[in-house]
Amino acid sequence: MDLQSIINESKNIVFFGGAGVSTESGIPDFRSVDGLYNQKYDYPPEQILSHTFFVRNTAEFYRFYQDKMLCLDVEPNAAHYKLAELEKAGKLSAVVTQNIDGLHQKAGSKKVYELHGSVHRNYCTKCGKFFDAEYIKAAEGVPKCECGGVIKPDVVLYEEPLDDRTVNGAVKAIRNCDTMIIAGTSLKVYPAAGLINYFSGKHLVLINLEQTNADSLADLAIHGKVGEVLGKIKV
Ligand code: NAD
Repeated sequence: MDLQSIINESKNIVFFGGAGVSTESGIPDFRSVDGLYNQKYDYPPEQILSHTFFVRNTAEFYRFYQDKMLCLDVEPNAAHYKLAELEKAGKLSAVVTQNIDGLHQKAGSKKVYELHGSVHRNYCTKCGKFFDAEYIKAAEGVPKCECGGVIKPDVVLYEEPLDDRTVNGAVKAIRNCDTMIIAGTSLKVYPAAGLINYFSGKHLVLINLEQTNADSLADLAIHGKVGEVLGKIKV
C-alpha cells in the first residue's frame, strides 16, 4: 500500500518527528553528514546541551545555544504545512515532536506535544518570569532577568527528565491512533524514541533519509526527504 492510500483510509493519524523534519527549513539536525555533530566546537553538542554544562559553563552554553539552536528567521516547510492541513481536515490527531523550534505551530498545527520543550519559552531560574526567544537572541552574554536570576530555556537538556504531562499526552495519542508516521528521526534519543512501542494501530510508516532500526517494524518505509514526500500528499 502506498502512503496516499494509507492516509486516505486513516481516521486518526499521529505524526512522530525529529530534527530531520526541520532540515528542509534550514535547521541542521544532529546526526546527518551536515548535522551539528559533524561541525567543530570545543565540546561535543551533547556535552554542551547537558544540565551539568548549563550550570557550570553557562556562558559557553549560551554562546553555542544562541549561535546554533536559536534559529528564529526560519519558516516551516512542506512537511509542517501538510501536517497542519491533515489536522484541520480531521485526519490527524497530534504531532509528537522532539524538535524545539516551534515550526509546527508556526505552520498552523494546534495539537503538538513538544517532548523536548521549546526555544520560544524561557524562564528566570530565580523568580520564574517568562521571556521570549527574541529576548534570548538579543542578550549579550548570559541572559539575565531584572531580578538578577539566570534565564533558562524551557528545553529538556541531557540529564533532565521529560515533562510528565507532555509524555502522557503523547502516549495517549499514540495508543489511540490508527496510523503512525515516524519521520526525520534517527530514533537514538531516549526516552523519546521508546514512545513508538505504544503504537498498536494498523499502519506504521517511516520516512527518513537513511535507514533506521525501526524500518523492519514498518509496513511502509520511505527513504527520502519528508517535506518532498508529504508535500505530494492530497488531503
Ligand atoms: P537526529 O539528528 O538524531 O536524526 C535526524 C534524522 O533525520 C537522521 O536519521 C537523518 O538522516 C534524517 N533526516 C535529515 N533530514 C531529513 C529530511 N529532510 N527528511 C527525512 N529525514 C531526514 O535527530 P533526532 O532523532 O530528532 O534527535 C536529535 C535531538 O536533537 C532531538 O532530541 C531534538 O530535540 C534535537 N534537535 C532539534 C532540532 C530542532 O528543533 N529543529 C535540531 C537539531 C537537534
